[in-house]
Amino acid sequence: MSVTTEIKMTLQTLRRFTVLALFGVALSTPALADDAPKWSLAVHGGAGVLERGELTPEKDKAFRAGLDAALEAGAKVLKAGGSSLDAVEAAVRVLEDNPLFNAGKGAVFTAEGRNELDAAIMDGATLKAGAVAGVTRTRNPISLARAVMEKSPHVLLAREGADQFSKEKGLEQAPPEYFYTEERWKQLLAWRKDHQAMLDPTHLFGTVGAVALDQAGHVAAATSTGGMTGKRWGRIGDSPIIGAGTYARDGDCAVSATGSGEYFIRESAARQVCDRIAWKGETVQQAADGTMASITKIGGDGGLIAIDGQGRAAFGMNDLGMYRGAISSAAPTPRTAIYADEPSPR
Ligand code: ASP
Repeated sequence: MSVTTEIKMTLQTLRRFTVLALFGVALSTPALADDAPKWSLAVHGGAGVLERGELTPEKDKAFRAGLDAALEAGAKVLKAGGSSLDAVEAAVRVLEDNPLFNAGKGAVFTAEGRNELDAAIMDGATLKAGAVAGVTRTRNPISLARAVMEKSPHVLLAREGADQFSKEKGLEQAPPEYFYTEERWKQLLAWRKDHQAMLDPTHLFGTVGAVALDQAGHVAAATSTGGMTGKRWGRIGDSPIIGAGTYARDGDCAVSATGSGEYFIRESAARQVCDRIAWKGETVQQAADGTMASITKIGGDGGLIAIDGQGRAAFGMNDLGMYRGAISSAAPTPRTAIYADEPSPR
């Protein structure tokens, strides 16, 4: 790790607690029930050490445009009375196709220089879920996760078995070169030098995700990722683990996480948010903050997005930033935020 990156990481650890405390307080005011939107959608594109001025204006603009496009794709479904499941899939597909984010095209490389993709989707109405881990040939892994949910008796398929299932079900295939981007390759080369995955401090975690409430009152969640640069062969993160990186349950909430997956798995992060709401009566923002506090406590970092049964969006993070956005029937223009001290869209 370079000295600069090391200093940044140390500073981040110190600031994490402050960010968590300030951010949580600033955003924990629940919306009034009569504000409740008919439909609502939130997305994320990963978290990282993002200080103002660290992103070039062009990159800042490009990330926000990417989030806007995903919000518009999901909102189109919800506005027309479509399901939250269709909306989160549509939003995540747009982010998977965007090389800026670590999912689909633009995914990070494993230690061996491959792209191995993880994704999960969950339907809050039925508690059905589908997930894939370590897939290498499906252009949109989130749609493969959905196929596992709808066209197999299983919840999680991995590696060659999942690749084969994808072909059998007629999902769009992509050659390994499709997922390549120069930026991610350079990150791998740098990682190989000193075995540090955390090379691009502005974008440590680039997983993408979406959560939505539809007009019928159902919630859904979807998450898709390339995992972490230099990950070991066979490593699976939190994104495809139902209850860790992805969870949805009608009446409580839908959640998608990003960050150091091992910690989100240990804290059952996504399910924890919903259980805090159901069992402790916390608001969705309190539940998001409480869960992030439990991640912080064991040394993990990243963030999560959540939406409750009334369509209130919440964003929790202990990094200095998270690419995030929201749109709803009450505020039907896409709104985005990147930095932790930038007010999150509602
Ligand atoms: N959570 C993902 C993983 O551990 C990484 C990320 O959020 O970018 O695989």
